[in-house]
Amino acid sequence: MKNYQVDEYGFYGNFGGTFVEDRLKKCVAELQENYKKVIHDPSFLEEYHQLLKDYVGRPSPLYLAKRLSERYGCKIYLKREDLNHTGAHKINNAIGQVLLAKRMGKKKIIAETGAGQHGVATATVCALMNMECVVYMGQTDIERQYVNVQKMRMLGAEVKSVASGSMTLKDAVNEAITAWADHLEDTYYVIGSTVGPHPYPDMVARLQSVISEEIRVQLKEREGREVPDYLIACIGGGSNAAGTIFHYLDDKEVKFIFAEAGGKGVDSGYTAATLASGQTSILHGFRTKVILDENGEVQEPYSISAGLDYPGIGPLHAYLHEQGRAEAFAVTDGEALDAAFELTRLEGIIPAIESSHALAVLGRITFKPSDVVVLTVSGRGDKDIDTYLRYFNA
Ligand SMILES: *Cc1c(COP(=O)(O)O)cnc(C)c1O
Repeated sequence: MKNYQVDEYGFYGNFGGTFVEDRLKKCVAELQENYKKVIHDPSFLEEYHQLLKDYVGRPSPLYLAKRLSERYGCKIYLKREDLNHTGAHKINNAIGQVLLAKRMGKKKIIAETGAGQHGVATATVCALMNMECVVYMGQTDIERQYVNVQKMRMLGAEVKSVASGSMTLKDAVNEAITAWADHLEDTYYVIGSTVGPHPYPDMVARLQSVISEEIRVQLKEREGREVPDYLIACIGGGSNAAGTIFHYLDDKEVKFIFAEAGGKGVDSGYTAATLASGQTSILHGFRTKVILDENGEVQEPYSISAGLDYPGIGPLHAYLHEQGRAEAFAVTDGEALDAAFELTRLEGIIPAIESSHALAVLGRITFKPSDVVVLTVSGRGDKDIDTYLRYFNA
């Protein structure tokens, strides 16, 4: 049987690993040494799970969406990460990593953010745990995501404006990594997705794996079996998808379906569909598929959804796709918007525009009536209301 777990050097097949400059090697080595010890420590796990229950509100419901099921001719369950505190799955990871930082004796947290969702989750946990918090954010994104910037400030975080490059997420990541290297003694870097040098992709996948741990139990209760026929999730860096499939990696019978942001179309030059159009390269300290322009430079990604707007993808996902274990669909902006309105009208749930990409995939698959489908709704749509209304009123 194929092993889809990370190897001791941080690789999934040819993807992943640690590709960092010398001054970062110490940071990464310290983390590699500590995270495994801590993440399996019973007292860490107890504190982590207690907070997931009482603070985040887990387990998140597994909801049988009857009208949506009728529409697509199968049985569709929604894993409701939108009901978590702060409105998405990102809090699962932020809690785990800030707890880890505390146990490593760190006093200060840094994070990067694009749309501000990971920044808000991290600032929230830092307020809870009395940690100093600095969030790096591109100047362009600060202007686009004003409410989240104000939330982070209200929570006590400092938002540092990044004016290099295109002043968006990938530039914020570069600045955060530099700050980490400069202040290693007292600083911990919280990455928001299953990306970055080893051990981040594996660590974030494990911290999000509570999603599939719960699905197994909930599905057994509802359907008498732990394994569905399909698992569907959207992919930016890949953390909600990794959490959704983690405890199913060895179950060959379940199909993994990833929804990427096609933007204005895979061949339009305005896309974030990494699996559809990326090439193997190195980005942010690891090897993965990356969208490159004709000069071999990282292409500025585009998607209507800020959370999926990343030019790379987690190494686990690149590997699963290369091996044929996962199938990916590129969903355009327009398809995602239509899917958001469909869910809202059929089920009374306004999804995050990221999650709407996963919903849009339902129409691309021919299901059998007996198929059991679990689709992760990664977040709620409050933050996207302006986008939805602009479309609705157009
Ligand atoms: C950040 C975000 C995503 C994309 O990140 P992944 O790491 O791919 O899960 C998806 N949905 C929501 C609601 C988000 O905030």
